[in-house]
Amino acid sequence: MIALSPAERILLSLGIDSPGEIDLEAIAWTRGAVVNYRPLDRCEATIVGSKRKAVITVNGRSPPERRRFSLAHELGHWHHHKGKMLFCGGRDVCNFANGPLHPERQADAFASDLILPNYLLGPRLRRIKRPTIAAAREVAEEYSASLTATLFKMTVLNRFPIIIACYDRTKRRWFERAPMIQPWWFPVDSLDRATFAANMLFGDSGEENFPRKMPADAWFGFKGCDRFEVEEQSYRLPGEEVLVILKLPDDAVA
Ligand SMILES: [Zn+2]
Repeated sequence: MIALSPAERILLSLGIDSPGEIDLEAIAWTRGAVVNYRPLDRCEATIVGSKRKAVITVNGRSPPERRRFSLAHELGHWHHHKGKMLFCGGRDVCNFANGPLHPERQADAFASDLILPNYLLGPRLRRIKRPTIAAAREVAEEYSASLTATLFKMTVLNRFPIIIACYDRTKRRWFERAPMIQPWWFPVDSLDRATFAANMLFGDSGEENFPRKMPADAWFGFKGCDRFEVEEQSYRLPGEEVLVILKLPDDAVA
């Protein structure tokens, strides 16, 4: 049993027991925050607040899931960093490359718990047999969340033996590993050209419908990893990046 986070306590105090009930504007209102949408040029969202009241402005030009995450992110600042005036840029909101103690990452963690609360997502994940992109997309739609935010939560909830990793053309930008995985399963620093993910990023191959098998040494560097196979499946992210899901063999589980 994972302890309840502040965002989950808020949801439970409002009696929310399904993803469709997570009405962020209503939740903001109960916290003393008013929400506006208008076009913003240099940021995704801002918050201006006094001790009790805040005004949150979200970039009305962003897609719906992005707006939703940005609003939840600002509510995270309202919870953790009250009294500060903040302008959150595109690289501040929903950026998994920020370290865990970074204030933007704290706001992101709050947003993730508000939009994808463990107490609802945990039971939902038990109905998933195989951690494919299609299965994650279904969950993402139910929770009006982005696919990447959904997969991130699916990974940290430790239900599947998976690693997710984001690569650009030169390097790994970030990765997250299910806690059950042995720590020496550490994904390579840059994409091996033999992988399907590299074909997607450097070639023109599209998204595979199902995970495909790949020798583990294309993804990992520890001694003896060539004895194993992993399953990989990727999708494109904006800005010439791919996100790969790696499903690891039973031997990788602690
Ligand atoms: Zn922020």
